[in-house]
Amino acid sequence: MIKVRNLSKHYGELVVLKDVNVDIKKGEVISVIGPSGTGKSTFLRCLNLLDIPTGGSILIDGVPLLDKNTNVPKIRQKMGMVFQSFNLYAHLSILENLTLGPTKLLKKTKAEANKKAVELLKLVGLAEKAYSYPDELSGGQKQRVAIARCMAMEPEILLFDEPTSALDPTMVSEVLAVIRRLSKEGMTMIIVTHEMEFARNISSRVFYMDEGIIYEEGPPEQIFENPLKEKTKAFIHRIRSIQYKISSPDYDLYALQGVMEVFCDKHMLPTKVAGYLLHVAEELLILNTDFTDLTLSLAYSEKDGMLELLFEQKGAPDNMLENKDLEDDIGIKLIKARCRSIEYNYANGKNNLLLKIKPD
Ligand code: ADP
Ligand code: MG
Repeated sequence: MIKVRNLSKHYGELVVLKDVNVDIKKGEVISVIGPSGTGKSTFLRCLNLLDIPTGGSILIDGVPLLDKNTNVPKIRQKMGMVFQSFNLYAHLSILENLTLGPTKLLKKTKAEANKKAVELLKLVGLAEKAYSYPDELSGGQKQRVAIARCMAMEPEILLFDEPTSALDPTMVSEVLAVIRRLSKEGMTMIIVTHEMEFARNISSRVFYMDEGIIYEEGPPEQIFENPLKEKTKAFIHRIRSIQYKISSPDYDLYALQGVMEVFCDKHMLPTKVAGYLLHVAEELLILNTDFTDLTLSLAYSEKDGMLELLFEQKGAPDNMLENKDLEDDIGIKLIKARCRSIEYNYANGKNNLLLKIKPD
């Protein structure tokens, strides 16, 4: 359905897309993930020509999009795009927002357009808001209307650019549920998202973008569990971990405790595990002497069920857990008793202590 070859996009000197090649079949749901600034939005915008590519080719159902003779508005109609910000018309009712395009561009009658709009509002759970105005709706409701409005144009492909990132956390799931519903109905979708659990559950394939290319692609199990390439591995590890910076010995213990509890909650680990973690971290912070640049990172590996606590401290090489003068230190003994393994290394001017804790 979509065939992209050697797609590139430059902004002056800046090469955002270097050489993107993808084939997407009808009914596929593709999640696009990657660090910010790697061209995910640019890629989507190039696909529906909101941005004009610098080079390469895009075929939609065999029709070359960049060919001079191609009827671009017609092709573009096949692709609906949902943005971070909902872009609804504030002065129109919800129903009018949904019927404007179909009556103007698809030449539908008012009655046909209304009928379809009501069906779509039902699909996204907002039939009762047909006569409300955008200002009367929550962010999550507005985004669902934006999705329904896209669908009203009867697209064959839906493109989503971080559809939930402007929403309050409480409203993310209602929007994801609507997208999930559309995927069940066989809609072809490309979704740029930071919602990794969602990406993992909904996608047939995941594209990891970096360095101006689709750096790695594969089924969600591969990308999230066993990424093959270095940058993918680093990215997945980073998004699965939480970082906490400490800059003085008088650090905020309660804030640190909060971070650990949220982390354990997110990974469905018992609350008492947050207690172990905090205990180990506190002991490390008592032993520590230099607080100029200190980061604690937490990660959890579902594969081996290990919690990782990485203690990174800028300074001269010093493995505080192997300090001969402190051999009998009770704190060191406590830390060692809690951990399955402790690795020390020194790199880039930093002492790195990686402690693995089994949460039971
Ligand atoms: P992502 O969506 O992955 O965060 P974007 O596609 O938005 O990344 O942007 C990729 C890079 O292109 C960024 O460095 C951004 O600053 C740059 N960029 C995006 N749009 C423009 C533009 N219209 N003009 C110049 N630079 C742009
Ligand atoms: Mg973006």
